[in-house]
Amino acid sequence: MSDAVYDILFSELDKRGIDHLANEPMSLHTTFKIGGAAKAFISPRDGEELSFAVNAASDLGVKTFVLGKGSNVLFDDEGYDGAVISTLSLDKIRVSDNMITCDAGVSVTSLSRFALEKSLAGLTFAYGIPGSVGGAVFMNAGAYGGEIKDVLMSSTYLDTTDGKIKTLTAKEHDFAYRYSSYKAHLDRVILNATFLLREGDHNDIKAEMDDFMDRRRTKQPLEFPSAGSVFKRYPGRYTAQMIDEAGLKGAAVGGAEVSVKHAGFIINKGGATSADVTALIELIKKTIFEKFGIEIECEIIRVEK
Ligand SMILES: Cc1cc2nc3c(=O)[nH]c(=O)nc-3n(C[C@H](O)[C@H](O)[C@H](O)COP(=O)(O)OP(=O)(O)OC[C@H]3O[C@@H](n4cnc5c(N)ncnc54)[C@H](O)[C@@H]3O)c2cc1C
Repeated sequence: MSDAVYDILFSELDKRGIDHLANEPMSLHTTFKIGGAAKAFISPRDGEELSFAVNAASDLGVKTFVLGKGSNVLFDDEGYDGAVISTLSLDKIRVSDNMITCDAGVSVTSLSRFALEKSLAGLTFAYGIPGSVGGAVFMNAGAYGGEIKDVLMSSTYLDTTDGKIKTLTAKEHDFAYRYSSYKAHLDRVILNATFLLREGDHNDIKAEMDDFMDRRRTKQPLEFPSAGSVFKRYPGRYTAQMIDEAGLKGAAVGGAEVSVKHAGFIINKGGATSADVTALIELIKKTIFEKFGIEIECEIIRVEK
């Protein structure tokens, strides 16, 4: 897409006062710290701005990608010839009885802390997951025996096909392991989500959160940039264990390395490119297939130019 098209897009956004950046490196907005520049990086503050931005891009034939905290994505080294719509300025959170309604850009760790402040139980598992609420609902994020599906009551989204704001009940999310129906409807942008929690004891909730965080610090290579577990669990098998048994801990391509601390993680040891990570992923998949006859599937989402 030509620069002239982006100039028109930026002028439309300026008229509405919507925050945006040109040629923004995606390495600054992803936990892998990898990815070239997105031609446009737009930060709407509410559903109306978001709808306007998506429509303006679509009218000009500019593709869009919705980004939360970038903790489960791998952007191309060549960048993104389109508009990345960041949800991080959608940041309101409110409580009513045992329900918390939270905008898509709030981090799930902040949501978990907010629940603790209100002595509401059910979100301890989310403490330490470095994603946004939108990304966590999209992925049905989970840890330590808990998943978003256990506590989500409903979510509200912008249907970009008709510009209307709609609501999904919990059931309509078709939740499964690391799956929600949003994965089958990429024209829907999650605006907020409501969680139904239960009254709990502040100290008990805090103790569980601290325990989960300790386990993360002990077992995960949090000192290096990564996108968490690269592969989905294979039914009945721990993927990280298979990678370890295949002797792949420490295997590297360029700056990308299979973590020695947790074989399910690929870490950016410094200067890793998306091509390095992709080549390492292919090496792992091939080796696991040769050794175990199993095809493992990627959990992280690759965003092509
Ligand atoms: C150190 C580390 C530990 C991790 N631990 C866990 C863990 O324990 N459990 C777990 O499940 N995951 C874990 N992850 C992965 C990741 O944090 C989760 O998948 C998280 O839910 C992704 O949220 P995000 O906001 O970063 O999404 P992003 O990476 O920004 O986006 C992921 C996908 O969601 C879509 N998306 C994001 N927001 C919206 C929205 N508002 N509307 C529509 N689509 C949207 C994006 O388009 C993209 O396809 C970990 C990652 C790291 C780096």
